Amino acid sequence: MENIKSILQNADSILIGAGAGLSTSAGFTYSGPRFQKYFADFEKKYGFHDMYSGGFYPYKTLEENWAYWSRQIYLNRFVKAPLPVYEKLLELVKDKNYFVLTTNVDHCFQKAGFDKSRLFYTQGDYGLWQCSKPCHKKTYDNQLFVEKMIREQGFVIQSDGGLELPKSGFNEIKMTVPSELVPHCPVCGKPMTMNLRCDDTFVEDEGWNKAAGRYEDFLNENKDGKIVYLELGVGGNTPGIIKYPFWKMTYANPKAVYVCINKGEAEVPGEIEKQSICVNNDIYEVLKSL
Ligand SMILES: [Zn+2]
Repeated sequence: MENIKSILQNADSILIGAGAGLSTSAGFTYSGPRFQKYFADFEKKYGFHDMYSGGFYPYKTLEENWAYWSRQIYLNRFVKAPLPVYEKLLELVKDKNYFVLTTNVDHCFQKAGFDKSRLFYTQGDYGLWQCSKPCHKKTYDNQLFVEKMIREQGFVIQSDGGLELPKSGFNEIKMTVPSELVPHCPVCGKPMTMNLRCDDTFVEDEGWNKAAGRYEDFLNENKDGKIVYLELGVGGNTPGIIKYPFWKMTYANPKAVYVCINKGEAEVPGEIEKQSICVNNDIYEVLKSL
């Protein structure tokens, strides 16, 4: 911990690479009690047990599809994270020259107060919709529509934004939304879909492209200096976006340090062992002790 602390303090720049594990550490779990609390009806009907599987389920109607998705969006995008993990991280880097590259789509960095111009969300945002075709490269804020869908199903949105079941529990919860709430593209009329990268229909809008440019600029300015690659909770699903580039860039620069914090998957190739610190522990625990 002392080593990491002094490395971060003495770095000229810090590139944070954040994966799903960071949000899991903040309490945004996709299975277990949090899943069952809000999706018990879907679990019973379809037999899946987590929000990854539920998100890929081919629902027969758009009304049911949006009943499912509005819950997933609301819970992970508009509800505050249970633990202040992102806030702790911000405290650590806010006075430094930092940038964030993340595959997370839950907006937690913005909610915690990170500077928007220092973030690059490569895989989209739960808070945005796009045309499913897509006929044009624009994205649309979905918060108001999602809140309507949530209320129409019978959920209660509390004053602090929290989501609760009605007193009668799932008895009064609907698994569909009214047809008039199903979103359609304002240009071609096709159904809207999530702005999440899962295939080549993902829309990279103006904001996405600007962020990509800023990320490139940050790398060009800093990759040959005293840079720290701080990797948090990046798993094996998409190592090509954060993990492998971080390893390669560390290898290419003897002044670079790679710090990996990941419960269960804190590993590093032998070639950069001497430039690396791996911590196999919960990210929140580690950030608190820094
Ligand atoms: Zn369209």
